[in-house]
Amino acid sequence: MHIHEYQAKDLFKNNNIKVPNFVVVSSAKKTAQACEKLGGLVWVVKAQVHAGGRGKGGGVIVCKEIKDAVNASKKLLGSKLITPQTDSNGQPINEVIIEAGQDIAKELYLGLLVDRGSERITVLASTEGGMDIEQVASETPEKIIKKKIDPLGKITLEDCIEIANKLNLDASLHSQFSQTLVGLFNIFTEHDANLIEINPLVITGNNEIIALDGKIDFDDNALYRNESILALRDIAQEDERERSASEYQLNYISLDGTVGCMVNGAGLAMATMDLIEYHGGSPANFLDVGGGTTSERVAKAFEIIQSGDNVKAILVNIFGGIVRCDLIANGILQAIEKVGLSLPIVVRLEGTNAKEGLEILNESQFEIITEADLTKAAQQVVEMAK
Ligand code: ADP
Ligand code: MG
Repeated sequence: MHIHEYQAKDLFKNNNIKVPNFVVVSSAKKTAQACEKLGGLVWVVKAQVHAGGRGKGGGVIVCKEIKDAVNASKKLLGSKLITPQTDSNGQPINEVIIEAGQDIAKELYLGLLVDRGSERITVLASTEGGMDIEQVASETPEKIIKKKIDPLGKITLEDCIEIANKLNLDASLHSQFSQTLVGLFNIFTEHDANLIEINPLVITGNNEIIALDGKIDFDDNALYRNESILALRDIAQEDERERSASEYQLNYISLDGTVGCMVNGAGLAMATMDLIEYHGGSPANFLDVGGGTTSERVAKAFEIIQSGDNVKAILVNIFGGIVRCDLIANGILQAIEKVGLSLPIVVRLEGTNAKEGLEILNESQFEIITEADLTKAAQQVVEMAK
């Protein structure tokens, strides 16, 4: 689960990490008041969306006049922000922060993640912080410093100083840097995070270390024991179809192709998507309806697939192992009766009672193309989606 920058910064503050003063605003009318409260000569208006790359997408606006900040709020609030990290629709901006402009002398990068290779929480740091860190990581990976943390211990002062030295930080900054890193480590381990990033972590003209940005991703499987984090969830930032799928325990991910897929089993779903691509099509989604599929869940899956604007045809690919294909066929018919069928559909059934299942669909009043062979089914659905 992602949270907003301002929520991350609240957590930072509570863990002794310095952040700029800011005010959260959801109506442009409150902007002038926020600027006055913050004081100073420069204000930065920042879109609050669950995506990085906001600076590149026009979501971070530096203002030297209060009236410019008001206009920036007006422009951002209620619109959608498209960045290199969002899809082509962008993310809705329902809140901005008005933040005190900082005098930046140096932009660093500091992050923590679970490195699966080494099975350790790992600190990532770089002297090349700022908006092009992705490019730094891919083109000059040697500029990313990595430090694994002992899973039986905590991050130590020695760890912090070692990283500070690799970042060429002046000794006068060591204690502020250690305080920042220890704070991050505490948030990470106390709340079961997957990733925390401060990019940029800045050194100001006054030799202060300040987190100018904050991104945190928490482990969904541990939210049950992190109530205070779960309370920060913002469903407006989530994909509507993915959210409603999760309510029905359907494993669903939106994609931008044209063939809607309904499959049982994650492996089969992946193979089905590959086959659609192989035959010149592109999947509109990943959907695993799971093992113990009920007709209610099949109906919901249909509804979600058909609600996608880009979907032109549907492929149902079910392997009847424990579950019988005749039961699945009846489930599909019930689903269609309930939610209707507005798109061409190909159903491939294989496994236990496949023959009976296909007969049930063939004899139904609906226009369902049945196919026992998966390759042929994929070829047909790709053709129909064109
Ligand atoms: P994103 O990573 O989504 O682009 P950031 O919060 O990192 O958003 O902001 C992008 C850039 O804008 C920063 O690298 C920094 O140069 C500038 N910036 C952001 N906040 C401030 C601020 N409070 N004062 C001065 N510059 C800022
Ligand atoms: Mg950033």
